[in-house]
Amino acid sequence: MVQQPYDYRRRELVEPDWRRLPGWTTVTREDWESAQWQRAHCVKNTRQLREVAGAGLSEAFLADLERDQRDRATMSMLLPPQMLNTIAPDVPASAPGFTDAWYADPVRRYMLPVFSDRQPEWPSHPYAQRDSLHEAEMWAVEGLTHRYPTKVLAELLPTCPQYCGHCTRMDLVGNPTASFDKHRFGLARDDRLTAMLDYLRRTPGVRDVVVSGGDVANLPWPRLESFVSELLTIESVRDIRLASKALMGLPQHWLSGEVQAGMARLTAVGRARGVSIAIHTHVNAAQSVTPLVAKAARAMLEAGVRNVRNQGVLLRGVNDHADQLLDLCFALLDEASIVPYYFYMCDMIPGAEHWRLSVAQAQELQSAIMGYLPGFATPRVVCDVPYVGKRWVHQVARYDTTLGISYWTKNYRTALEAADQLALSREYPYYDPIHLLPAEGQQWWRAQAGQLVS
Ligand code: SF4
Repeated sequence: MVQQPYDYRRRELVEPDWRRLPGWTTVTREDWESAQWQRAHCVKNTRQLREVAGAGLSEAFLADLERDQRDRATMSMLLPPQMLNTIAPDVPASAPGFTDAWYADPVRRYMLPVFSDRQPEWPSHPYAQRDSLHEAEMWAVEGLTHRYPTKVLAELLPTCPQYCGHCTRMDLVGNPTASFDKHRFGLARDDRLTAMLDYLRRTPGVRDVVVSGGDVANLPWPRLESFVSELLTIESVRDIRLASKALMGLPQHWLSGEVQAGMARLTAVGRARGVSIAIHTHVNAAQSVTPLVAKAARAMLEAGVRNVRNQGVLLRGVNDHADQLLDLCFALLDEASIVPYYFYMCDMIPGAEHWRLSVAQAQELQSAIMGYLPGFATPRVVCDVPYVGKRWVHQVARYDTTLGISYWTKNYRTALEAADQLALSREYPYYDPIHLLPAEGQQWWRAQAGQLVS
């Protein structure tokens, strides 16, 4: 064989043994595979984390975590046991290097950020925003973002079974943290969902509905089934995509009998009407793809969903090497029948600078992963440019790499720009993390921020 930058090897999936963690030594397989048990035993604070991980996780780590929750966190802590069990899966809790393994672990880095992870000088970019994609500005009715001509995003609920540190929707999703309050929907849930359906019935230019949140796994199944059933009656709707990170974080939910039977009912109607129903999940690291995740994805395919696709997020220290991305894509595709679809650049929310990559780094990653996966499963690396939408990273119109400002154009208008003659000729900026810029660029930003130039 010719030597290649990346060597493909099939790797069998393994469910890490949860009994290695002191808090779960007596947990049975039956409990572990129960969605109810998983939801009831989520870790929500450092006290619960200490009880699960035991004394092997140092007090210094827990203090680092608490400081982050107090001073920086945009999301509160919420990890189902399934997800927590994939952190440092090969290191026994009694091993001397247990805490170090947690510090270095990719899943820990984005699900349990600690204060010392954050970028010290620029924890947030000066142009970071809570709703960095301006989704709420583009609500056609409350919770329904109409940002592309033919597609909408329906935010059905503001909660998830797990909270990711880098969540793009930090403005809306989850519980308030010490530093960030959350936007509250004004309308009651059923009124909001009814208004969304009414809008779609009177807007036949929309053919594609992303049903999201939050995470649809937190909506009681009968309510989700009735909403999707209504969507299936709308003549113009041809694609329905259900967004759930819980397919990975809480696969037990998607493996429940109620959900499998309900999904089979929906897909049968969809097939008869020529409407495709797919699931979009969010996996960022190969170690998160376990046998239970694969089982849940395949159960959904057997229930008739057209595809299970992955939309990961590029994050420094998690998946910023081509090998890590390819390991993840092959684990998804070969072992779980999940199609790698997108990797998003991490959005410009507060506190995200230590996670974010530059556009140039994203372009390099896109180039490095080309040619290994089948074309249909080669993920596109995309930048979600504020007021523009998803752009492939090589679509940049102009790029000042000294100041870290890239410029992008768009080929459609949102409702916000209905009367804007320049919307299609304007260039829209996006910003690289300042700490990655050359010295000249960093100094420029310090001067902009009114700080002393060193
Ligand atoms: S699952 Fe998605 S919506 Fe929920 S916290 Fe994570 S990134 Fe945000």
